[in-house]
Amino acid sequence: MASKASITKRGIDVESIKKDFPILGTSMNGKRLVYLDSAATSQKPIQVIDAISNYYKTFNANIHRGIYKISEQATEEYTASKVKLAKFIGAKSYQEIVYVRNTTEAINLAALSWGGANIKNGDHILITQMEHHSNIVPWQMLAQRTGAVLDYVMLNEDKSAIDESSLEEQLSKNPKIFAVSHASNVLGTINDVKKITRMTHEHGGIVLVDGAQSAPHMPVNVSEIGCDFFALSGHKMLGPTGIGALYGKRELLDSMEPIFGGGDMIRSVGFQDHTWNELPWKFEAGTSNIEGGIGMSAAIDYLNGIGMESIRKHEMELTRYAMEKLGSIAGLKVYGPDAKHIKNRGGVISFSIKGAHPHDVAQIFDENGIAIRAGHHCAMPLVEDVLGVGAVSRMSFYIYNDEKDVDAAVKAIGEVKRIFKLN
Ligand code: PMP
Repeated sequence: MASKASITKRGIDVESIKKDFPILGTSMNGKRLVYLDSAATSQKPIQVIDAISNYYKTFNANIHRGIYKISEQATEEYTASKVKLAKFIGAKSYQEIVYVRNTTEAINLAALSWGGANIKNGDHILITQMEHHSNIVPWQMLAQRTGAVLDYVMLNEDKSAIDESSLEEQLSKNPKIFAVSHASNVLGTINDVKKITRMTHEHGGIVLVDGAQSAPHMPVNVSEIGCDFFALSGHKMLGPTGIGALYGKRELLDSMEPIFGGGDMIRSVGFQDHTWNELPWKFEAGTSNIEGGIGMSAAIDYLNGIGMESIRKHEMELTRYAMEKLGSIAGLKVYGPDAKHIKNRGGVISFSIKGAHPHDVAQIFDENGIAIRAGHHCAMPLVEDVLGVGAVSRMSFYIYNDEKDVDAAVKAIGEVKRIFKLN
């Protein structure tokens, strides 16, 4: 947990937080590592690394099986991690938390299990034009299998947010499910998922929120949002890779069938038949990612130690600072909500520089020790068809970034302009 001393009036004390992240003390291409790719995956604090290492060193055992001390300890810590995550996102109980590998698997689980039973030929499935492939492809697959229709809510004219009239038009088709990102990994846009959920429910549909880019960065309360499913990835919120969660309302998860069969998900097995275990275990066949659950627990402790409100405030201030700096650079275009709408955007800034390919930009950043991402960011329909570009460069912030990191990025943009002789 971050020490209380690290929490300053400004929100958070980045200098002391940085010290908890061993990788941030290293260099890349001979320069101080400036990590601006947390939307892809976050770095890990020593507290998370140590929790995983401590598990392997002192109580490594399979869960739910042994009646010996260290197996019981592993089981307790794994379950405790779900209890913690349930509280972290405002779920009613840990039974509503199914551990999966990542957001992608969480959405696929909902599409296969809930969708497989509830979506029929001619039904409408609704998503938006700003979705990540993880929240597009599973629904395309479901639509193709069932003969359902996949509809899209369009973006507004400046391509920064959902278009309200398109939302109403699509909801009037009474979609069975609306799967929508809470925060866009390309535009940074934060969608009003509470309002969206209310509207969708009024039309008789359920809502899945893709929380991959929100859960790590802002307070989330699924009960307040009212959504039916919520998907997240541990690796984007200081936890290890290979652990994520599907939150589902208990009555919904109760009504659903598992998609994998095997050990741990059963209550009893005979030669011809079996009965299922209780929630959430009926969805978790086979040996779980125990170290992942334990790492997730330490990650949540760390985030809670700082406070999600403070994290959001810090990222908003840093994004505002970055948008102001970027706004004064000729030939640079920032996508998503503008600086006046900072409350509607997270710490993801996609940009392009006239005359320089995003991949060249990312390479010049790399030479300067700065990690950013370039490409379609697993959102090809958005980047290629809606924004009308093949690729964009993207910087994304987290608790360990500060103004110095933004200044380093601005300096690297100066380098790009110098190398490509741009004005
Ligand atoms: N949705 C969004 C909005 C994302 O940003 C990402 C990751 N880039 C995902 C889903 C998929 O996450 P994962 O790869 O951890 O499954």
